[in-house]
Amino acid sequence: DAAPRKAKGTTKQVENGTKVEEKEDKAAQSLLNKMIHTSLVNTTNQVEVLQRDPKSPLYSVKTFEELRLKDELLRGVYDMGFNRPSKIQENALPMMLAEPPQNLIAQSQSGTGKTAAFALAMLSHVDPANKWTQCLCIAPTYELALQTGKVIEQMGKFYPEVKLAYAIRGNKLDRGTKLQEQIVIGTPGTVLDWCSKLKIIDPKKISVFVLDEADVMIATQGHQDQSIRIQRMLPNECQMLLFSATFEDSVWKFAERVVPDPNIIKLKREEETLDTIKQYYVLCNDKDEKFTALCNIYGAITIAQAMIFCHTRRTAGWLSAELTKEGHVVALLSGEMTVEQRAAIIERFREGKEKVLVTTNVCSRGIDVEQVSVVINFDLPIDKDGNADNETYLHRIGRTGRFGKRGLAVNMIDSKHSMNILNQIEEHFNKKINKLDTDDLDEIE
Ligand code: ADP
Repeated sequence: DAAPRKAKGTTKQVENGTKVEEKEDKAAQSLLNKMIHTSLVNTTNQVEVLQRDPKSPLYSVKTFEELRLKDELLRGVYDMGFNRPSKIQENALPMMLAEPPQNLIAQSQSGTGKTAAFALAMLSHVDPANKWTQCLCIAPTYELALQTGKVIEQMGKFYPEVKLAYAIRGNKLDRGTKLQEQIVIGTPGTVLDWCSKLKIIDPKKISVFVLDEADVMIATQGHQDQSIRIQRMLPNECQMLLFSATFEDSVWKFAERVVPDPNIIKLKREEETLDTIKQYYVLCNDKDEKFTALCNIYGAITIAQAMIFCHTRRTAGWLSAELTKEGHVVALLSGEMTVEQRAAIIERFREGKEKVLVTTNVCSRGIDVEQVSVVINFDLPIDKDGNADNETYLHRIGRTGRFGKRGLAVNMIDSKHSMNILNQIEEHFNKKINKLDTDDLDEIE
């Protein structure tokens, strides 16, 4: 795989002599999301559907029975604990299973049922009597491919005639080997090799092509090119399906290149708001005073669960050690951890095994903070130019409207610079952040 491996969005930056936390790599973030979403993410937003042929009737299903799946697959679906199609599946499944096949571009945030939908579509389209590859799915990384493969295996549990192969690095096959597995999931480089150089898969016999995590895929130029080269080898009548969690212009342009005449399904992300959050700031002189203030807050109010954000790994490590010394049971999420380790820590925190989670920015996006009553910005979020990072602030503190739970956010200020950042945030959201006197905390309970 000659694709450049350098992840976009990884910025190493030196500030005051310390390395600022590396920005999370998109693929790792996506994998983390997959690992921690053990159930569907709820959204109140409506699905938007744009049909290729606006005159054709729009089908949507409320049950899996309506899809007339093979018994083996219906059993698989129910065995996974699915009772009814998710919002996006209600529309996507009838389109994907239609005859003749229809192309689809679908966008919805992680955890809304995309993977399950295309896994089911691939399994439905396969003819198990044919011992060649019929469905091809590409994913941006080895780990993401494995994760998706697991879903296909689980859903196909009662359909053992259908076999799955992984086209990923390390899986070496000889040139000219004729692959018998009906479904292949892999990374673009290896899939391309198997289809062209090694002639292990005959691309002309592919009837379903899935491109998953398109937004992550195009972050690597090499992957984008390889994906397009694979797509060009497929027959015209092959069904093309593309999925993405986000839809910036670049994703859209790419999607239009690889999916001709598409139906389009979009499900907007739930908006986050600061409306139900009480925001405060605390004035301190340095790190130690911030720590003392934090302990005062903790001593004064009952906190179910709190998340504390630091700017660097070093501060996060220091803070969690100090809090532990004070007798708190603290979990620490940090950038050098593997995705598996992070997923395990988030899981424990969600189960309430720890009451405090100290973290850097790296991990905040994957975590649903609805259950967290208090968020402390030990350091305010800044972008790489040192300005207020409003988006991250909103994501740390904000709630999606539907839950309506109230929350408390406390920002620790220890310099003119951080006061400046705070003012930028106030201005951006047009919301006043009040000063909190940590010697008199009655007002916040
Ligand atoms: P995405 O690909 O959009 O991230 P997934 O397909 O991985 O979403 O689904 C997220 C989670 O929801 C997974 O744990 C999956 O097993 C579960 N899930 C998917 N579809 C359904 C459904 N119809 N009913 C219940 N759970 C579902």
